[in-house]
Amino acid sequence: HPLPTIVNITSCGRTIGIGNGSGLVVIGGPCAVESEGQLLETAHAVKEAGGHILRGGAYKPRTSPYSFQGLGEKGLKILARAREDTGLAIVSEALDHVVYDLVEEYCDIVQIGARNMQNFSLLRRAGRSDKPVLLKRGMSATVEEWLMAAEYIVSEGNPRVILCERGIRTFCKHSRNTLDLSAVLFLLKETHLPVIVDPSHACGVRDQVIPLSKAACVIGAHGIMVEVHPEPEKALSDGPQSLNLQEFALLMKELEKVQALC
Ligand code: PEP
Ligand code: MN
Repeated sequence: HPLPTIVNITSCGRTIGIGNGSGLVVIGGPCAVESEGQLLETAHAVKEAGGHILRGGAYKPRTSPYSFQGLGEKGLKILARAREDTGLAIVSEALDHVVYDLVEEYCDIVQIGARNMQNFSLLRRAGRSDKPVLLKRGMSATVEEWLMAAEYIVSEGNPRVILCERGIRTFCKHSRNTLDLSAVLFLLKETHLPVIVDPSHACGVRDQVIPLSKAACVIGAHGIMVEVHPEPEKALSDGPQSLNLQEFALLMKELEKVQALC
């Protein structure tokens, strides 16, 4: 095996992907940037609780064209302001290659979403970037397809790819998706890329986010990404799976306990 790929996120001084003992990287923030007030309040809470990276969608891949689509560049500007205020690094999704330039200009990490995992022109564009890429697993992608998607980015010249398991479609009705932790274990063993887990999109319900985050930590994932909102019941997207600020602080405490045991 080649040496593990370690992705440095210089703006927050963290690295992702050194393995156990180096500390879990926690990415928190709202599904979508909705306003400056909403994002700054969340950013300060994430920072205070010990989170490392702030997430927030400015371009949202919504099932319905009538749902909130994100604030676009205004959202990216708000994220940049939050980074200035808190020192947290920021990650946001590039929905297509047209907006890639803007997202990479503002953000420390560019996210490629589940729906775009096999958008090959987007993957090639990400490969020509010098910013790290957070590549989510497609909702019905095999691990091999996912790794080949990563290969598109790496083969264009960008080795800084972070894999993010976010649940896959199964027959179950009790959960939005099914969190495939054994895929995470497989990847931790078989690839040199950092692997993180997004329990929020995997389960779709707030109650399961903390336990699934702990499970991801126990099996050695390099990080987790969770949705956090100051008022989840008022969120413009993914409210039911978003932790409130107190719950995020509780999550951080619980993860500390788990890490002390590992
Ligand atoms: C997200 O992280 O906001 C998102 C849309 O996730 P996914 O692409 O995994 O559905
Ligand atoms: Mn979301």
